[in-house]
Amino acid sequence: MSAPVRVRFAPSPTGYLHVGGARTALFNWLYARHAGGTFVLRIEDTDNARNSQAAVDVILSGLRWLGLDWDEGPQTGDADGPVRGDKGPYFQSRRGEIYRHRAEELKAKGFAYEKDGALFFRMTRDPVTIPDLVVGDVVRPLTDREAVDPDWVLIRSDGVPVFHFVNVVDDLEMGITHVIRGEDHLSNTAKHIALFKAFGVEPPKYAHIPLILNLDGSKMSKRDQGASVQGYVDGGYLPEAVINYLSLLGWSPKAVGELFTAQDLVPLFDLPDINRSNARFDLKKLEHFHFEHVRRLPADRFVSTGVEALRRSGIETSGFDPAYVRAALLTVQEKGKLFNELPGWTDFYFVADDAVVFDAEAKAKALVPTSVPVLEQLATRFQALPEYTAAALEAALKALAAELGVKVGVLIAPCRVGCTGRTVGPSLYHLLEVLGRERVTRRLARAKSVAGGA
Ligand code: GLU
Repeated sequence: MSAPVRVRFAPSPTGYLHVGGARTALFNWLYARHAGGTFVLRIEDTDNARNSQAAVDVILSGLRWLGLDWDEGPQTGDADGPVRGDKGPYFQSRRGEIYRHRAEELKAKGFAYEKDGALFFRMTRDPVTIPDLVVGDVVRPLTDREAVDPDWVLIRSDGVPVFHFVNVVDDLEMGITHVIRGEDHLSNTAKHIALFKAFGVEPPKYAHIPLILNLDGSKMSKRDQGASVQGYVDGGYLPEAVINYLSLLGWSPKAVGELFTAQDLVPLFDLPDINRSNARFDLKKLEHFHFEHVRRLPADRFVSTGVEALRRSGIETSGFDPAYVRAALLTVQEKGKLFNELPGWTDFYFVADDAVVFDAEAKAKALVPTSVPVLEQLATRFQALPEYTAAALEAALKALAAELGVKVGVLIAPCRVGCTGRTVGPSLYHLLEVLGRERVTRRLARAKSVAGGA
């Protein structure tokens, strides 16, 4: 029987969580959950100059937002806290003792020597074959420079251990069984395998995943649209949609369809199904996933996420009846909008009836003197309805249009603009029902006086 799966996500705190990093984290998380293994989070922060608590927090909060929980590593609130036994937190900056110890071991075994104040690794002179679960066997020939002198630095003269060394020591110490990471690290792997062998330990299995490129095939940089996970948080995307989209960047499920939750993905995901070719990032496609996931979201979660989005934009709903807030937000769920767009679709629900802001163009088109009699009759019909429901409101409006011999649009436009201030929004009859008799009556009266030139 093979050893239980242990995988890790090992980001360097660069100040943001790159979409490629998030996808690497996702694949590791999925594989751990798929195999019933352990997902370790390790912050590779030996490069002190670049590190700050804020840079670490960006990574932790990005992973939490995506729902990628880790089993070992920094826990909530203790990024600054004590190191607790072997359950982490794993910050390389706190593991200096382990690295010094391992450096001594290499020296004792004759694999490391000092020169010019630095510690060098005596690299193998033979070509190294990298057995990779995604790209197959890769033989990395020595570069010209390496052919002359293949040795490389383990610990710099200023005492800082280099990435390759701490990365391998930790994978070894943490019992990592599978290294799933970006293909940009394939070129480092010969060094890593040689180090494992020097320690007398079998290297983990490797799965290098293809890169995520821009649509035009260029490399994605920090400034590119979609490059940072925080951009999705700020942009009002649903994390479920981001997870779904990222899962398909470089992995093809055997299952039919492409709409998955993280829980759907766990049984489906496996390393051999990772693609060999690079993936291209398409924001339109992500928006499509957002649309589909929002429409399927349980109402409670849609409402709580919507309330949060409104609050961020300065709209406070806590002064309103919770049932009203819920009903109001649910009139837009099926639109599948980004949560950032929600204020523009629902703000009219949360203002006083005499404070509805009329869009200038909408007002010029719909709230004109000819609308006055229309608004008046509509208000009378609505007022007389025994039941103030979307169906009854719709029937009343249509009946009036038929009697007047006009298209429904002639009634709909001034009614909608009068009640919401805009020409587009949630379904008119549903929003009228949610606003309710009193609000609608007051708003139509105000619309009438605005249309009449008051
Ligand atoms: N700290 C490395 C990075 O952020 C991780 C390399 C690895 O996963 O082995 O690219």
